[in-house]
Amino acid sequence: MTVKLHTLPGNVELPALGLGVFRAPRGRGTQDAVLTAIEAGYRHIDTATVYENEADVGEAIRGSDIPREDVFVTTKLWNTDHGFDAALSACDASLARLGFDYVDLYLVHWPVPEARLDTWRAMERILGDGKARAIGVSNYMPGHLEELLADAAVPPAVNQFELSPFNYGSRRALIDLCDESGIVEAYSPLTKGLKLGDPTLAAIGATHGKSPAQVLIRWALEHGFVVIPKSTNPERIRQNADVFDFSLSDGELAQLDALDEGLVTGWDPATEPWS
Ligand code: NDP
Repeated sequence: MTVKLHTLPGNVELPALGLGVFRAPRGRGTQDAVLTAIEAGYRHIDTATVYENEADVGEAIRGSDIPREDVFVTTKLWNTDHGFDAALSACDASLARLGFDYVDLYLVHWPVPEARLDTWRAMERILGDGKARAIGVSNYMPGHLEELLADAAVPPAVNQFELSPFNYGSRRALIDLCDESGIVEAYSPLTKGLKLGDPTLAAIGATHGKSPAQVLIRWALEHGFVVIPKSTNPERIRQNADVFDFSLSDGELAQLDALDEGLVTGWDPATEPWS
């Protein structure tokens, strides 16, 4: 499969499709999903400290036929690890669990108040020390991003947040802000499965001989977003990567864009106390 590569500062190439491993079970569950994904052509894995499966991601990559440097790995700093010194230690601990001497992308998982600017200074140090090839944020809404951009020496290369046709309209201001400063990564792109029965997705999918999940992944790619669907099912892992032999028409994209209902399937960074 031919996956678009987004170029981040430092000529770091970020594949537009990755495998998410949130709620992938520790041990063989995560390891087998990562190995299946690599065999299917994925070269990008998205994990986090709080997913408790960094060690399995690292072990699977080491056990694969692919050199470490050919797989783009993201992990994230958890909310209890904010602050300059704590963030430095948290990165070292993630690297130890992964068994890597660098991660491709290190993200601040949530815009926790008070310490987040100090945390970002640690992120810049982590980048400078070569422990991460790129640094970014997750769940940053426009206010969080504007605050960071005003203060940062190095702007975030990426903002990862929940994005699908079902909240696209509500996120337009944020997407526009990210377009000026960094790449958008769409998490929960399959709405955690909640909207896969939607009739518009089914109708568009039927036109192309594709599933609703494949339509959602293609929608994200055509908007220029990085997309990280999660599956631990081998057939669905392969299906989610089989999205490069069709395209959506302008009319289909407009139909999908119009599905916005402000859907938030997880914590809402706009209202969550951590924000
Ligand atoms: P997704 O929107 O990717 O949906 C995953 C669900 O869809 C699972 O139940 C999966 O089941 C099912 N599924 C996957 N493929 C198919 C398919 N082809 N057909 C039908 N069902 C399918 O949910 P996530 O919330 O996991 O988001 C994806 C990734 O985004 C995460 O794994 C994580 O890496 C990242 N993320 C980041 C967050 C952050 O705060 N930064 C928050 C949430 C997610 P099965 O496994 O059985 O196939």
